[in-house]
Amino acid sequence: METAVKEKSRIFRFGNRTTDGSKEMKNLLGGKGANLAEMSRIGIPVPPGFTITTEVCTEYHQIGKEALIEKLRPDVEEGVKYVEKIMGKTYGDSENPLLLSVRSGARKSMPGMMDTVLNLGLNDEVVEGLVKKTNNERFVWDSYRRFIQMYGSVVLGMKPDTKEDTDIFEEIMDDLKERRKIKLDTEFSVEDLKELVVAFRKIVKQRTGKNIPSDPWEQLWDATMAVFDSWNGNRALYYRKMHGYPSDWGTAVNVQAMVFGNMGDNSATGVCFTRDAGSGENVFNGEYLMNAQGEDVVAGVRTPQQITKLGSKRWAELARIDEKERREKYPSLEELLPDLYAELNEYQKKIETHYRDMQDMEFTIQEGRLWILQTRDGKRTGTAMIKIAVDLLKEGLIDKKEAIMRIEPMKLDELLHPVFDPRALENAHVIAQGLPASPGAATGQIVFFADEADKFKNSILVRIETSPEDLEGMNIARGILTARGGMTSHAAVVARGMGKCCVSGAGALNIDYKKREMKVGDKEYHEGDWISLNGSTGNIIEGKVATVEPELSDDLAEILELSDAFSSMKVRTNADTPNDAIAARNFGARGIGLTRTEHMFFGQDRIRAMREMILADTRNGRRRALRELLPMQRGDFEGIFEAMQGFPVTIRLLDPPLHEFVPHELAHQKELAKDMHISVKAVKNKVDELKEFNPMLGHRGCRLGNTYPEITEMQTRAIIEAALNVKEKGVEVKPEIMVPLVGTLKEFTLQEQVIRNTARKVFSERNDRVEFLVGTMIEIPRAALTADKIAVHAEFFSFGTNDLTQMVFGYSRDDVGKFLPVYYEKGILSNDPFESLDQEGVGQLIRTGIEKGRSTNPKLKIGICGEHGGEPSSIEFCYRVGMDYVSCSPFRVPIARVASAQAAIKNKEATV
Ligand code: PEP
Ligand code: MG
Repeated sequence: METAVKEKSRIFRFGNRTTDGSKEMKNLLGGKGANLAEMSRIGIPVPPGFTITTEVCTEYHQIGKEALIEKLRPDVEEGVKYVEKIMGKTYGDSENPLLLSVRSGARKSMPGMMDTVLNLGLNDEVVEGLVKKTNNERFVWDSYRRFIQMYGSVVLGMKPDTKEDTDIFEEIMDDLKERRKIKLDTEFSVEDLKELVVAFRKIVKQRTGKNIPSDPWEQLWDATMAVFDSWNGNRALYYRKMHGYPSDWGTAVNVQAMVFGNMGDNSATGVCFTRDAGSGENVFNGEYLMNAQGEDVVAGVRTPQQITKLGSKRWAELARIDEKERREKYPSLEELLPDLYAELNEYQKKIETHYRDMQDMEFTIQEGRLWILQTRDGKRTGTAMIKIAVDLLKEGLIDKKEAIMRIEPMKLDELLHPVFDPRALENAHVIAQGLPASPGAATGQIVFFADEADKFKNSILVRIETSPEDLEGMNIARGILTARGGMTSHAAVVARGMGKCCVSGAGALNIDYKKREMKVGDKEYHEGDWISLNGSTGNIIEGKVATVEPELSDDLAEILELSDAFSSMKVRTNADTPNDAIAARNFGARGIGLTRTEHMFFGQDRIRAMREMILADTRNGRRRALRELLPMQRGDFEGIFEAMQGFPVTIRLLDPPLHEFVPHELAHQKELAKDMHISVKAVKNKVDELKEFNPMLGHRGCRLGNTYPEITEMQTRAIIEAALNVKEKGVEVKPEIMVPLVGTLKEFTLQEQVIRNTARKVFSERNDRVEFLVGTMIEIPRAALTADKIAVHAEFFSFGTNDLTQMVFGYSRDDVGKFLPVYYEKGILSNDPFESLDQEGVGQLIRTGIEKGRSTNPKLKIGICGEHGGEPSSIEFCYRVGMDYVSCSPFRVPIARVASAQAAIKNKEATV
């Protein structure tokens, strides 16, 4: 076996157990290419071919088509010769022709986002020769019509006239089916297929002004360049942005000998998963179609059959088909072709064991011979991701570290989404049934076009089938419903990858795009009507269905526990109410990193006292109003301390500018004046007085506490009294009082004095005490730069990276959305710095702040409480710079626990 790995080349060959590449070479060969090489290496039958590297894609975008072809020609000619030799056929030869496929493949799989062209090498003469050679006229003409269809769309860029149009090729075929009174494309006669070829060619010429070239080499070059072009197509661009893949990766192109699943009744094609991509269950599953080519399965042209007997039975149960009919009309591959099934089963086990992860494979059976066309790590739902990682760990295929590294932290979000309330489901009116393609619960208003998914706040995208163009809309919609397509259809695969609820293949739906209407039996549903989807059962339900919060599964709990053992960096939560605190504790938060006390002032019963305080002209007047607020704050703090059961709780003093608390509309100002027994003018004057040009840089944060120390006094009293009350109940309390928006040392020390004096007073009144810390947020650049001075007095730092980012970039955090899209487009920014921490710029200030702070106070406790505390790449940064904890919203706590463990694993490994 030839297994030498080439160092530098433009093409890498594979097939017939020879290979130039390996699975480690994804960056250069793309995922598909690297895996084809690897499968070839381990003795899996893959059709021979070669991979043109991702570097060539980059070169193409730099030097252009002509220059590239010039350079690439000798390599590609050599590659084609290699394939010809193994296959014993010649590309472009009319007597013994080799046909090729050209497929994209980036280093990370981007299903359906880039292009593929099959059956290259066909023209009128080759068709004639192939008919003679195969004696299978039907197969040859079927392949030819597919070639024209694909070449027209992908290479020549044919598009529907309007979005209401269905695929024109499909329309032509449907029209012919109607005339012939047949249902399936397998029922077309040779004459029909010939007619289709003529009609397809005509429409391609009409719409693109171009003919399909008959020169096989011209076809090969143009198709290759079209795949390179698709790297920069809209779909790929959007997908890359969604996943944060850089544009300089490029795609590889895999040129491969065609094998045919459409050669008759001993040929088939299918897609399979080594485990269930929805639930994670360890059952081999998949779908296939007899006498078809690969795209038929994915595009949902015909309803595919299940590979295994078990899958077939489950499917029939859902579709309410009885066992006899199932066996006759929809037999599984296991039943129909048991020997080939056994072979496939053997390969899937071998491949999964080799890759040590769930695989998504494509295969073709050509006249009784099985070929594996590709394998890749299967896209899966959050639930499946967790279950598969835990199972592989138990099966001994991976160790604990790897199990944690297998988790995509952000995908855990899906597991925390609401699910349908089982009681509400009892009375639900199920209008139709589809396949449970991607689990979850979705309620929303119907839209029929992906680019209208944002028409309603909650929309359900209803399509005959989805295409890669629909990606953006699929992402926006709450759920996806398709009339056609199976569990491996585009909609199903993409939805599972997104963790979006999807019901596919609901054959009872009759969708009319032009009328924007969906019919089920006699009942019509229009755009804007509410429906609900149960992605776990495939039920389609009329109207809205109530939802409830989900519970953590045992598998998730296991992963989270494992994670905690790996990282010394703790995860706290940002919580403002006892309820949030309890939710966060249930998710495993080990303390509170930020309680924004101002949120407690917005309640109906509290805003009045707050306003009274703001409207007061004298210190005494303010004190009076603050006395009213004191018991309310104290009550909230008690609830939070109790929920946290001895874990530290950081409470921040009042932060926002006061104008946020007063009414700005005249009607509301009038009400307030009446309520407070003062004139409307007095209210208006006060509101005007509070107006600022840059409120975020204005009278807020510790500037409030320093101008009105009585606010700090009241808040400190509420915190300390609450702590003593809870302590009396026997619960341990660890309050940490945090001063916001400090820029100079004195701003901090003056507030610290007020806090400590007030605490002392309360202790002596109560004749009891509690330990507490006083610290500050680091959210103003000057604080980071002078952290050594501040840390002499502060007992902890919490990086407020929302404000810090705002001030380091000079972008208003509330207005950044206006220019961000253009900044992405122009490559000025590659992501939102308010979402994922700008490690290069803001990160420098954080490093400086930590180094300086610890230089004068080695015991300084350091954390982060900006939004970045719940974002995986930022969490890794926090770990690297030595923070003690990150703090994030309750629903991000599980994400942060895993991300924190991953950071520890990655970085410890890096230093070993
Ligand atoms: C911050 O600035 O990062 C922070 C946590 O405070 P806020 O978002 O309340 O300004
Ligand atoms: Mg802030």
